[in-house]
Amino acid sequence: MVHAEYTVGSVANIIGAKAIMMNDGPLTTLLTDSRRISNAPEALFFALSNRRDGHQFITDVYKAGVRTFVVSKRPNEVLTDANYLIVPDVLQALQALAAHHRRQFDLRVVGITGSNGKTIVKEWLYQLLMPDQNIVRSPKSYNSQIGVPLSVWNIKPVNDVALFEAGISAIGEMRRLEAVIQPEIGVLTHLGAAHDEGFTDREQKLNEKMLLFKDSKLLVGQYEELLSYKDRNTSTKFFCWSRRYDQADLYVIGEDTKKKDLYLRAIYHQQEIECHIPFTDQASVENAITCWSTLLALGYQPEVISERMERLTPVSMRLELKNGVNDCSIIDDSYNSDIQSLEIALNFLKQQNQHPIKTLILSDIYQSGLDEDELYRRVAAMLTDVGLNKFIGVGEALKRHSDLVLIDNKYFYNDTSELLSDIQRLNFRDETILLKGARSFEFERISRALVQKAHETVMEINLNALVNNLNFYRSKLAPGVKVMAMVKAFSYGSGTFEIANLLQYHKVDYLAVAYIDEGVALRTAGITLPIMVLNPEPNAFDKLVNYNLEPEVYSFHLFDELSQYLQDNDIINYPVHLKIDTGMHRLGFEAGEIAELCKLLVQNASFKVRSVFSHLVSSDSSVHDDFTLTQILKFEQAFKQIQEAIGYEFIKHINNTSGITRWGVAHYDMVRLGIGLYGVDAAVTDPAALQPIASLKTSISQIKNIKAGETVGYNRNGSLAKDGRIATVRIGYADGYLRAFGNGVGSMLVKGKLVRTVGNIAMDMCMLDVTGVDAKEGDEVIVFNDQQGIEELAKQIGTIPYEILTNISQRVKRVYFYE
Ligand SMILES: *Cc1c(COP(=O)(O)O)cnc(C)c1O
Repeated sequence: MVHAEYTVGSVANIIGAKAIMMNDGPLTTLLTDSRRISNAPEALFFALSNRRDGHQFITDVYKAGVRTFVVSKRPNEVLTDANYLIVPDVLQALQALAAHHRRQFDLRVVGITGSNGKTIVKEWLYQLLMPDQNIVRSPKSYNSQIGVPLSVWNIKPVNDVALFEAGISAIGEMRRLEAVIQPEIGVLTHLGAAHDEGFTDREQKLNEKMLLFKDSKLLVGQYEELLSYKDRNTSTKFFCWSRRYDQADLYVIGEDTKKKDLYLRAIYHQQEIECHIPFTDQASVENAITCWSTLLALGYQPEVISERMERLTPVSMRLELKNGVNDCSIIDDSYNSDIQSLEIALNFLKQQNQHPIKTLILSDIYQSGLDEDELYRRVAAMLTDVGLNKFIGVGEALKRHSDLVLIDNKYFYNDTSELLSDIQRLNFRDETILLKGARSFEFERISRALVQKAHETVMEINLNALVNNLNFYRSKLAPGVKVMAMVKAFSYGSGTFEIANLLQYHKVDYLAVAYIDEGVALRTAGITLPIMVLNPEPNAFDKLVNYNLEPEVYSFHLFDELSQYLQDNDIINYPVHLKIDTGMHRLGFEAGEIAELCKLLVQNASFKVRSVFSHLVSSDSSVHDDFTLTQILKFEQAFKQIQEAIGYEFIKHINNTSGITRWGVAHYDMVRLGIGLYGVDAAVTDPAALQPIASLKTSISQIKNIKAGETVGYNRNGSLAKDGRIATVRIGYADGYLRAFGNGVGSMLVKGKLVRTVGNIAMDMCMLDVTGVDAKEGDEVIVFNDQQGIEELAKQIGTIPYEILTNISQRVKRVYFYE
């Protein structure tokens, strides 16, 4: 086995690049995201062009210390000391480098694909093989054209086994991933209907997926799914499982639930074998059987497997951001700990600006493939990169390397119990705390001690979905068109700094809030983006100025008041945004007032016009397209008139969410993205384009059997036609579940079934008809999610999604997660 050492020159050779080389230094780290730089001096940055052209970030990456770049265009300006490796296709170069790296090792590489369950199966195989193998695996669900090469790059000489997942969404992609992974052993997880868009049918999808295994020696999967393939392929050894066919290698004959466990029985080599797993849901059971088959195929003894399967633990791929005690925010990532997922989590920590102190609680890291010294040296360097203020190390290895951590405020403990007994002294207050620990350290105990107890109704916000939605709209804009993200009304009910931090990190250009206090709250939480205030109140002008917020000016009255205030305080050139009324008749200067406005602007030095804008009344509806067009024309006239009068440039904008896709001609310099960010847009017909970001969940407090005709709730409004069961759930109109949903108008999901409300909605609770549903006290109840969306709720009570979202009261805890 060769230990691969790479330098600028050797990499240039491997990827066949034309090189502009200033030095031949060592390269150890691959980077593809300009916002995530680590180990800069030994890093190689790939200027990939996916949504945005990576070449445009080279200067930023250079400033962060990176000196070597793989590019597809000759640079206009050659930066001092920089090495450029010029290739025709940057992504292909990344893949070629990873494929080369892979070929340097002859460890057992397991390639995992399928429509669902890839990440779970990978993580469980890791848990099952860890006691006697040194394993390298894909971090999180790194399974894409970029994620796979980055995963494969992590192979080290000490590894015995590699577990890599491969995910595809179009024809042609698997061939490329196969060349990078080169799996000796293939595992096919469940082949469901997920991600069908890129394929004409199931057969085509299966064939494409099977390309991953074209040179594999052994293939594991479900008998029914591999059947057609097996006949065609004689050189590969198969290990199949089935519940129906006794010719399968593992023929599953029994599945009995015992409390929270499942007892599995199967025939293997003509003998009955068994195992217990701590899960009962169908998806987990199938994934567990896949893992069981894989270990048998690898030659493990049934008794050994059974003992390990019993200890499988849930796989949480998400980082959760929650409210903690003493004004802290807790980022909970206490299920796994390896250097790549640490990097992802630290990066998320870095985005958080709401508290002055950033804290990391970290356990020892296992199986990194690096020697201890090197490992903790790297970890220490990562901490410096994110600007950490406080470090708490748990575990003996970290303690041994405590001097590597260059942060004054540092503490070390041998184990979690020792930390917990010292938690008073650690005095957590106004901090963002990242919890990152290997499973055996049981950091969930720390999480329980630090996270605020929530009333059991929570709104979960999916931050990945938000980023997806932002990128969807960005893809509709010409280069250079700015995005103003509307975060008024608590980001349409979704949160304040949590959302703004993310938007700032993803480099939107502007934020907009409704009132000055909303802007102050964002500034206090560390948001530095420009912020426009739609409806500035004169009694808070001092805060407007102190917090550097930019007002909308919509009337002569406001113009006078604000300019008087600015003059009194000797302020000139204060940035303002002029609102033109082109038909909404809400706020704004009308056509007949523009001349007068221009005159005042020219005489008055208080203001600097930052932008001129208007608002469409019906951008989503074709019925009103003619009217929209008149609005656009009026707007053009107005801004031209102002431009001419004041003689300098400003930003022009008119489109809200629905206008972005429908009125491309009117993007001007900026668009104002509101509800689309939160996953709702009537003008977007492709259901896969936008993702709902919020789900609202509550739980059952009590279940009662009710006789036909008995009444339920206030004023005896509800009753059941037949004898049945009702469940009382912990949400009422004070939480934002309006009274209009009562008496069967609204429905919620219990155990996957839609059930209707019974009787009036009360302040803090309401009742559901759960007759015939296998529900029990404590069960989760979904008010809305991606199955029953907010559009559906809005329809039920005759309102619009905006109102549903913004009604959810502040009493309902928000939990943010990031996958
Ligand atoms: C709220 C608001 C928007 C955003 O509208 P969406 O339909 O949510 O995209 C845009 N501009 C102004 C002036 C607004 O008040």
